[in-house]
Amino acid sequence: MAFHTLGCKLNYSETSTLSRMLEKEGFEKREFDEPADVYVINTCSVTENADKECRHLVRRIQRQSPESLVVITGCYAQLKPREIASIPGVDLVLGAAEKFNIVQHLKEWSKGDPTKICSCDIGELSSFHASFSLNDRTRTFLKVQDGCDYNCSFCTIPMARGKSRSDTIAGVLRNVEEAVAAGVKEVVLTGVNLGDFGRSEVALTGDETNFFTLIRELEQVEGIQRYRISSIEPNLLSPEIIEWVAGSSKFMPHFHIPLQSGSNRILASMRRRYKRELYAERVQQIKALMPHCAIGVDVITGFPGETGVEFRETVDFLQGLEVSYLHVFTYSERDHTKALEIKPVVPIATRQERNKILRNLSYMKMQYFTAQHQGQVRKVLFEKQAHDTLMEGYTDNYIKITTPYRAEWVNQLVDWTI
Ligand code: SF4
Repeated sequence: MAFHTLGCKLNYSETSTLSRMLEKEGFEKREFDEPADVYVINTCSVTENADKECRHLVRRIQRQSPESLVVITGCYAQLKPREIASIPGVDLVLGAAEKFNIVQHLKEWSKGDPTKICSCDIGELSSFHASFSLNDRTRTFLKVQDGCDYNCSFCTIPMARGKSRSDTIAGVLRNVEEAVAAGVKEVVLTGVNLGDFGRSEVALTGDETNFFTLIRELEQVEGIQRYRISSIEPNLLSPEIIEWVAGSSKFMPHFHIPLQSGSNRILASMRRRYKRELYAERVQQIKALMPHCAIGVDVITGFPGETGVEFRETVDFLQGLEVSYLHVFTYSERDHTKALEIKPVVPIATRQERNKILRNLSYMKMQYFTAQHQGQVRKVLFEKQAHDTLMEGYTDNYIKITTPYRAEWVNQLVDWTI
């Protein structure tokens, strides 16, 4: 069997778990460009041209292993199952509820059967399936939460992944212990809306669990050296969480906080649950407690109705904030989203021009942040993937280090002078 993953860290953690499930059934793992009996493509709905990419991958499989089974799963498979099933060569389409039943589906299916679509109404999805990556990369991406109850007007993720639900604290601790036993030093906590951890369970069981209780429990796990919080909404990143991370020896000084726009009018139109003032407060608190902390920001350019003046507001706001890098997305239309009703549409060339301006700003922010740490000694965890003759690793505060490959440094924390 061979896997290909498109999209986010959550998808990587799920692919890794699916792969271990199949390995337990006797399947042997192959690289995607090697011959295999089963190919699984884990798709994303955020990726531009998801359909084109999927078709391209299926054609590649047909050329190299025409007799193999082709399974498509993930967010795009949930959103557009029929479109995917119509791609010549696709055998099984597994939606959000069915992907973790892959073993059963493979047992019931033979090559030559008509293409089968297994996808439920996303509103009915209530189960949580924990997953984490192991061995694929040096750091482990651990899914602790899935789905989202927010309704940001540009986003299809709630339609692809369903309502917010989480693992239990005991479940998360068990998975971290398993990762530690396998030699993992850094766990990256991931979720669709990570800061929402435990909230829906409170409503169901009355148990007081939330993201803050989770991180306090995680601090107690023996043997783990580092945790990273992958991305957290500004309104859910409470002052107590920031204080806790500042005093923790295991949670890394690194936050990734989606902003999306620096204009309050656009934020309201996106149905985001905060204003720019709250965002600025969070950044100020982080930097006051941890001046060395890395802060990453997601921003969207060319959201419908975004004027030149509002875009400038975003640029000025980000320029004045002590953040370290930006992930810039160009707005693109998505079926069934509220944003489609908002006018006027921003021309694509303008969206892209704005994207370029923010990417330049990101480059300057990153240069400045790195220069601030020049000469300091910080711990770097080196990763096992080789990039030609080079290896990469990250400092505690997410500065990427690239150096000639040394096998003895893989998965080691090395003191490094920046
Ligand atoms: S918080 Fe908004 S952008 Fe993030 S997954 Fe939920 S709906 Fe989408």
